[in-house]
Amino acid sequence: MNSKFDAVVIGGGIYGAAMLWELAHRGLKPILLEKNDFASGTSSNSLKTIHGGIRYLQKLQFNRVLESDREKAILTKIAPSSIKPLNCLLPEGSSISKSRYSYWAGTTFFNILSRCFKGSLSSNGSPYKRASILKTSILNTKSADKYFMSWQDAQVLNSERLVLNFISSAIDYGASAYNYADVGSVALHGDVYETSLKDGQTVKSDYVIDCSSSIDPLYDRMAKDSGYLKPVSAMNLIFDLSVSNSAVALPSVNPDLNKSTMLFFSPWMNSTLAGTWYFNEKVTKANVDKEIVDVCLLDTYRSLKGAGFSITLTELKRKLLDIHLGVLPGTSKLDDPEKSLIEYPSVQSDGVGYHKIMGNKYTTARLNAKKFVDTLKAKDNRIKESKSHEIQLSNESDPPCTLSSTDQSIRELIKMSQVKTVSDLLYRRLNENPHRAFNEKEIKRILELVATELGLNDEEVAQQLAEVELTESSKRSLSIEAR
Ligand SMILES: Cc1cc2nc3c(=O)[nH]c(=O)nc-3n(C[C@H](O)[C@H](O)[C@H](O)COP(=O)(O)OP(=O)(O)OC[C@H]3O[C@@H](n4cnc5c(N)ncnc54)[C@H](O)[C@@H]3O)c2cc1C
Repeated sequence: MNSKFDAVVIGGGIYGAAMLWELAHRGLKPILLEKNDFASGTSSNSLKTIHGGIRYLQKLQFNRVLESDREKAILTKIAPSSIKPLNCLLPEGSSISKSRYSYWAGTTFFNILSRCFKGSLSSNGSPYKRASILKTSILNTKSADKYFMSWQDAQVLNSERLVLNFISSAIDYGASAYNYADVGSVALHGDVYETSLKDGQTVKSDYVIDCSSSIDPLYDRMAKDSGYLKPVSAMNLIFDLSVSNSAVALPSVNPDLNKSTMLFFSPWMNSTLAGTWYFNEKVTKANVDKEIVDVCLLDTYRSLKGAGFSITLTELKRKLLDIHLGVLPGTSKLDDPEKSLIEYPSVQSDGVGYHKIMGNKYTTARLNAKKFVDTLKAKDNRIKESKSHEIQLSNESDPPCTLSSTDQSIRELIKMSQVKTVSDLLYRRLNENPHRAFNEKEIKRILELVATELGLNDEEVAQQLAEVELTESSKRSLSIEAR
């Protein structure tokens, strides 16, 4: 870390990772510093949908429709093993705007936009199908066939692995990246920034790009500029349940409040992700209230019941595997947490070289990194044109490592991807559903491999095992309480 870098990127979520890749392949020498493990923040908690943009037609945001649709196609090309098409369904509703005729108009317009303006439907070999109207029923219901709007978004199968693949690609182009490197502060000395880690190390650079996703900047000269943003917590529930083979949006009607919420049920690794709920208060997994979880479970129950599922609330509670929670930027002008979410990433700058970027969608992280580096290029002739829309990311052609991989492959993975703990390997490196309970034999094998590769002593091994047990038992206690 001693030499000077062109840019320091703070935060190893999808925004920091895509930024590192963009800077590295365009000719700069960047370094990424992540305080915990890579992809252990909000980026591991997303609903995993790569939004194709059709939803923005409702608000007549044509630019957003096209941007997202193109990004879906680009990510499918550069990350073919991480990104797959996801069939989506929206049922016909009682209002005119939700009638099959409006859906027909919307899907026809979307198909034309996508074909004519180089979207996901424009190329012959595209894996994406046209949006249409479909008369069908969703899996596991006894209800009659209904009309649905049908379209294809994409799904990132493993949102942590894609973050790591952006980082590996950047490293292949000369970037550096460190996990467990907690940044304490940033200061400007002359025209060089000094980023200080909490362990006392410092890194010098021309630019600092803060993708740490906390509202407060790490650079005190910027502190007052972030006042217009507030943190909004967002939550999904993961169920050991099969709702449909497609991702389906279903209304949940609260009879007491006469209020309807739209919930999305997305199939993922033999489970279903459901959500999303938004809160103004900062909710974390450690402090999440049982009552909040109960309200969300009731919403889910009403939604499934309304769609004709035969499940009781008690059964549904038993099927709860885990909770995803993350923080997103909202504007402090609006009170309603969902409505307050910002539509484009927030970019603040000190006018010299410190930039704070707060992302709002996993889907558009690469695009926003590209746009941001384009603005630097206007004043920095070291920066080349972007090729991130066409270069396939590292590791995307190799089969991902799983628990059934050989010891040798898992050892390689530990060495090559900066694994520091058993949790890093189990929850963020292996291509497994991290919400299923790993059995003792699996954990012991992983522990042995990590201990040998990292040279851990008995005390450290015991500590790591306790951390894994803690994670597992906290999951168990959560589902027991929810009953
Ligand atoms: C429940 C939920 C569902 C969502 N669903 C979708 C979806 O379906 N599709 C979609 O496109 N988007 C979705 N999103 C939004 C998307 O997940 C986020 O916009 C995106 O992951 C934000 O990425 P990030 O890199 O900015 O933040 P993060 O992933 O949080 O990364 C920031 C990183 O910075 C690190 N950091 C913080 N402080 C420091 C420090 N001092 N020093 C070093 N490192 C630091 C953190 O540890 C963290 O790893 C969802 C979000 C949530 C919460």
